[in-house]
Amino acid sequence: MLTAYHPQSSRQVFAAEQSSSGGPFFCPACGSELRIKKGLKRIHHFAHLPEKVCIYKGESQLHLRIKKQIYYSLLQELGTKVKNVSLEKLMDTIRPDVLIEGFKKNIGIEIQVTPLTPAELIRRTTAYYQQKIHVLWVLPFSKERFFAADDGEFQPIRLKEFELMLYYMNYKNLIFWDDTEKLSEGFIRIQLQDIWQKPGSYYSIDWSTVIEFNPKKLKQKKMPSQIEYHLGLKEFKPVYAPPFQMPKSDYFLPGRFMMLKK
Ligand SMILES: [Zn+2]
Repeated sequence: MLTAYHPQSSRQVFAAEQSSSGGPFFCPACGSELRIKKGLKRIHHFAHLPEKVCIYKGESQLHLRIKKQIYYSLLQELGTKVKNVSLEKLMDTIRPDVLIEGFKKNIGIEIQVTPLTPAELIRRTTAYYQQKIHVLWVLPFSKERFFAADDGEFQPIRLKEFELMLYYMNYKNLIFWDDTEKLSEGFIRIQLQDIWQKPGSYYSIDWSTVIEFNPKKLKQKKMPSQIEYHLGLKEFKPVYAPPFQMPKSDYFLPGRFMMLKK
């Protein structure tokens, strides 16, 4: 975690601004004491003791880095245009990585570095909806995933199950963040398209008949069609999206509040 509760000052403090002598520090979720980790290379953070079990435990350096970058980027972009931008806000059933409390609407940023189960994605989506928070799901960007090594052109990518759900939830878009900040300082939006297998025909096993097959949509493989870099939050608008049965799957995506690229 980037922050912890500091009883001495009765507030949430940042690991980057504290030292081990300034403790103790506690986890707001499980209440256990945390150790402050300040290295030269790693992101300054608070860590649970190995034996503790907590929802905040085990965030990767990649997750912490993206969270920190998004937080500072949004502070800079939004400044006084919103009531508050906060990190790791622990709410009833959700814990957005970054929460933006606006004058009219609230926005939660969910950074998803590790795969999420479909059930958990649906649970969180519903919880955000109930709390009237618009969500922006953000995935870690990697250039190698979208661009072919030889010619730098787009290449088909295989979406993980939860990414496929986000693809449908986001009207065939996925939002990323480049933690190297080389390609983009800001959100990255990638539009994807379905890939259709070509129609064709083959002989039956006894060579007596020709069997034709129709074009078939590939389920998890999608083709990037457009990419946009350096997006600020102002380029997204809060929308309500109605419930939706995901094609060729058992998932019923619930009605949700989300941030959609304008
Ligand atoms: Zn904890």
